[in-house]
Amino acid sequence: MEKQVIRGYSKIKTKSYKKSNKTLKTPKIITLNTKNIKHKMKIILLGSPGVGKGTYASFIKEKYKLPHISTGDLFREAMKNGTPLGKKAKEYIDRGDLVPDDLTVQILKERISKPDCENGFMLDGFPRTIPQAEALDKITKIELAINFFASEKIILQRLGGRRICKKCGAIFHLVNKKPKKEGVCDICGGELYQRSDEMPEIIKERLKTYHEKTKPLEDYYKKKGILRGIMVDADINAPNFKEAILDKIDEAIESVKK
Ligand SMILES: [Zn+2]
Repeated sequence: MEKQVIRGYSKIKTKSYKKSNKTLKTPKIITLNTKNIKHKMKIILLGSPGVGKGTYASFIKEKYKLPHISTGDLFREAMKNGTPLGKKAKEYIDRGDLVPDDLTVQILKERISKPDCENGFMLDGFPRTIPQAEALDKITKIELAINFFASEKIILQRLGGRRICKKCGAIFHLVNKKPKKEGVCDICGGELYQRSDEMPEIIKERLKTYHEKTKPLEDYYKKKGILRGIMVDADINAPNFKEAILDKIDEAIESVKK
């Protein structure tokens, strides 16, 4: 059983991050009866910077009605509502310290006990480390970890092409959302600039750091047999992009059910 699941993982995932820089063929469409996927789904989202995780989370949220819980939002919410745990977290954040794992887990526990998490949830940005993953296992049973990945080439294209308006903050892209006039904001006429952490060399560093940090976590969920990789080297603007991604997600969900 365990073996099979791991084999399934390597089937969806292509061999390595480096080799997979060919453009993604549109995955074949398999229509799954979504009624059958009425199943509690507790999902962890993994994915490097620039892979588009937020976009895929919104697809899942829309289709499965699962709340998207990111740790950043979680803290903000707890602090805004002035819950006892939120107040505690605020002390750390105000001091510029990291919020300890056990506190984060308690806040998370509070969040996932709310009625909107009855059918499951998607966790984003947590866990980031093995101790966090272990702490999480003590409060809930994660059923699926989806690892969105793309080739470095594609990530460089996506992030490296972003240009931001100095005046109004509007975001453009040299390929996907070209400004009408080069270097000038369509909306306010302001000057466009590239964020310093989106320069190619810096992106490469960020990706390297990300992979080093996340590898143990991937292995952790792989050992449990619940890690599924989805390659997203496709063009986000392709007409059936969303369906293709959702199809892969359906496949991942189906493969861990049972
Ligand atoms: Zn502007």
